[in-house]
Amino acid sequence: MSNQLSALIFTQPLATAAELQAKYPPRELPEGAAVTRFAPSPTGFMHMGNVLGALVSRTLASQSGGVFYLRLEDTDKKREVADGAAAILSGLHALEIALDEGVDGGEYGPYTQSQRREIYHAFAKQLVDEGLAYPCFCTAEQLQQMRDEQESAGVNKGYYGGWAKCRCMPQDEQVRRLQAGESYTLRLRSPGDAARKITVNDLIRGKLELPEYDMDVVLLKADGMPTYHFAHVVDDHLMRTTHVVRGDEWLATLPLHIQLFGLLKCKPPKYAHIAPLMKLDAETGGKRKLSKRKDPEAAVSFFTAQGYPSAALREYLLTLLNSNFEEWRRAKPAEPLSAFPFSLKKMSSSGALFDLQKLDDVSKTVISRMTAEEVFAQALAWAQAHEPELAELLARDAGYATAMFAIDRGGKKPRKDMAKWSQVREAYAYFYEEPSGAGSEIAQNYADIYVHGDEKEAWFARIKANCGDVAVKDYCGAVRVAVTGRENSPDLWAVMQVLGEETVKRRLTANQS
Ligand code: GLU
Repeated sequence: MSNQLSALIFTQPLATAAELQAKYPPRELPEGAAVTRFAPSPTGFMHMGNVLGALVSRTLASQSGGVFYLRLEDTDKKREVADGAAAILSGLHALEIALDEGVDGGEYGPYTQSQRREIYHAFAKQLVDEGLAYPCFCTAEQLQQMRDEQESAGVNKGYYGGWAKCRCMPQDEQVRRLQAGESYTLRLRSPGDAARKITVNDLIRGKLELPEYDMDVVLLKADGMPTYHFAHVVDDHLMRTTHVVRGDEWLATLPLHIQLFGLLKCKPPKYAHIAPLMKLDAETGGKRKLSKRKDPEAAVSFFTAQGYPSAALREYLLTLLNSNFEEWRRAKPAEPLSAFPFSLKKMSSSGALFDLQKLDDVSKTVISRMTAEEVFAQALAWAQAHEPELAELLARDAGYATAMFAIDRGGKKPRKDMAKWSQVREAYAYFYEEPSGAGSEIAQNYADIYVHGDEKEAWFARIKANCGDVAVKDYCGAVRVAVTGRENSPDLWAVMQVLGEETVKRRLTANQS
């Protein structure tokens, strides 16, 4: 009889679930290799919490010789935006999180949910055939009325037990209403009992005891598209995912997901639920979730716009993920991040505090360890996209710009003056514009004795020999102000070498009072 029902629901020819299992066989990977995924919805907004999860997933796959893939969860067309996929890819790019498979290719695709309709239908059909799913004809108004009644009765809201009106509908009525073309959703006939508990081992939180899920959730919406619950179970199974890393907002429905895997006769993956990123609320002084609506820094684009290097963002996120990361970093400053022995077990089940000041500190250190060539290439690439005028200045003379970036770089104590590329213009302004500082007698005096060819020691010796009654520090200070317009600068001799003799002399003699 259920077959008659499924013939009315699924009118197009479909593969069987078994055929699909054979088409997407278990992956041939070494023992213990993790298959992980990033499964965002293309809403046009990439939350830092999302990329945090993606970084964990990427790391797990890389560490184990596994696969990390991207799946676009675009079944909610109301939330989708036109360039949603582009925002996702640029978010991953901002952290240099590489994909092994995804929208650009792979053996387990398609990787976009809206292109997998027949696949979901094949599995849904199996459930209908087994009496585990049924059509629900309740209208939005009826469902609202149900919730209102549940509210006044003080019971759990949702479609379950005696509230699930269509669950017990006689088959002839189902058939009649389907044949009449009534709108319906397909619901799970949940075997769950909320009084019973299941035990799940979360890789971050450890052993969890959760009530069984007893709601008859929607599997296929009225337009035939699957819900997240159903689609991701089918996908994670067919894409042979071994580890699901996702936000802990999904813990509440985890029992449902495990139930669905069971009903589809598939093995559930391992789960790691990440707590949301937090921030200190300026008004209350308390901790709260980093909010997409309130906090600009919740968006990955906030950081790309300002030019934080991807290595710095990754490094900072690792400090949030594993508390032993910083100690490791201090001991091994030159190791690639991939060498860090990341562990899910060391992740906290309470949300990490997202701290912009700390990010800046990390980023300054990361930039200070780059070579001048790296700084030039990254600053130029950022400027080309975000500050064309700066790009033009840098590109005009790559050798000059690289020499400028080389000052106070390398060695034991490199200068840490920039956290992001949007600070280049200000930090290096006097390499491109005449400083507006007032001239001085000292500068004038120094112009007369300045020898551009002096090596650093000779340069300093000449200043000492010439400063007379003025303290060396003050003498150098006056020269610095005349040449750079600032009281603080990187190594003055090196700055003058890069500026060139003509510029130095011009600045020393300019603006005489
Ligand atoms: N599309 C879901 C989201 O964006 C994915 C959750 C998951 O990773 O399973 O929240």
